Amino acid sequence: MTDSRRGLPAVGALLELPDVKALAARSARAQVTEAVRAAVEEARQDPAAAPASEAAWTAAIRGHLARRERASLRAVFNATGVVLHTNLGRAPLARAAIDAIARTASGASNLEYDLERGERGSRYAHCASLLAELTGAEDALVVNNGAAALVLSLNTLAEGRDAVVSRGELIEIGGSFRVPDVMAKSGCTLREVGTTNRTHPDDYRRVLGAQTGAIVKVHRSNFEVRGFVAETSVRELAVIAREAGLPLIVDLGSGLLVSLEAYGLSGEPTVGETVRDGATLVVMSGDKLLGGPQAGIIVGDRAAVDACRRNPLARALRVDKLTIAALEATLRLSQDEARAVQEIPALAMVTAAAASIRRRAEAMAESLGAHGIPCRVVDSEGAVGGGAFPTARLASAAVALDGDPMVLEARLRGGDDAVIGRVVDGRLLLDLRSVPADRDEAVLAAVCKALAA
Ligand SMILES: *Cc1c(COP(=O)(O)O)cnc(C)c1O
Repeated sequence: MTDSRRGLPAVGALLELPDVKALAARSARAQVTEAVRAAVEEARQDPAAAPASEAAWTAAIRGHLARRERASLRAVFNATGVVLHTNLGRAPLARAAIDAIARTASGASNLEYDLERGERGSRYAHCASLLAELTGAEDALVVNNGAAALVLSLNTLAEGRDAVVSRGELIEIGGSFRVPDVMAKSGCTLREVGTTNRTHPDDYRRVLGAQTGAIVKVHRSNFEVRGFVAETSVRELAVIAREAGLPLIVDLGSGLLVSLEAYGLSGEPTVGETVRDGATLVVMSGDKLLGGPQAGIIVGDRAAVDACRRNPLARALRVDKLTIAALEATLRLSQDEARAVQEIPALAMVTAAAASIRRRAEAMAESLGAHGIPCRVVDSEGAVGGGAFPTARLASAAVALDGDPMVLEARLRGGDDAVIGRVVDGRLLLDLRSVPADRDEAVLAAVCKALAA
């Protein structure tokens, strides 16, 4: 089977090997052929490392095939200590939400069918009453994501007119999402008021007029300003908006339904508080502190929400049925605070006691040591992430692996089940704050597999 010119086997000959033929029985033939070609090409590039036996060729081909067939979007373990990590998919879903997705995905559903009346229904009906109940708002609408919720609200209430916003709130969320750009694309003219550090009620009052469409307040979700600062509260803005007969749109970013003050996390307003303070519409994400799927949620006055629902743009931003399934299940858990904090993973991770994380880290370090992977437990600081409680440092514990952090990081990232840690002071830390407690065994197995000699 040797290609005599180069001393390498021919692709056709390798395809005839029994074990390679067996691969073609369960994979697409073209993929196997490509894997064989890749193995031969690799051997051509580096003849000294070329496979020397049929078994070695088969193993090399199997490796190339596995890499080709590996999904692009894969599960990873988030051991960064940042619970809501946008690059790592934000909130993991609760079991109940995953089950709801599976039920809805595997068959037909009453997505747009009213089972009581036996006639066409609305996909928007499914979460609206739950959201109203949980936030005290009159009505609610779910769209594709937080940015979509903001665009739809602005376009509905302020198209062709001014949207008045403080200069201190023209923020960038990350991933090229800049509030001023999004507002401009919504068809309204940005009317900036105040200064970066201070905006007073009179700054708003001065610019309101016939051309004004809405007052907008954006929660400074991913940073904090300190020092000589003043901002006009939602409550104050609600008074100003009411006097002027204008709507007040509040972009909360993270949709916190349950207060976390009992866990030492304060300063982030809940959606209910913001509704009570007088916002006409409140917009938020579903996959930040709400702990659900990617979604954008609009809650508020009946007439304003209804206008958003009837806006033709709503159709372009509409939410998928699997999202509705997961969101409804997550909202049901949120009805009971104690249950929410236990069963919604994002909330469970954010509120976990440092001592319990330390115990888990100690158990993991001991097991890693037993597998010949040297490490120790260190104190660590996690964060909420996802644009919420930006300055809160969550006391945590991490397994610090001995060895070159860059080499370790690359090996853990390259494994079948990638583990993403954080490099601090020249060491790779696996911070368990952002790992759901029931995943410790799986993380341990992935680390052992990636680092086994
Ligand atoms: C995160 C965030 C958004 C964007 O929400 P997505 O769901 O990511 O589209 C908008 N505004 C604020 C204040 C945010 O924190």
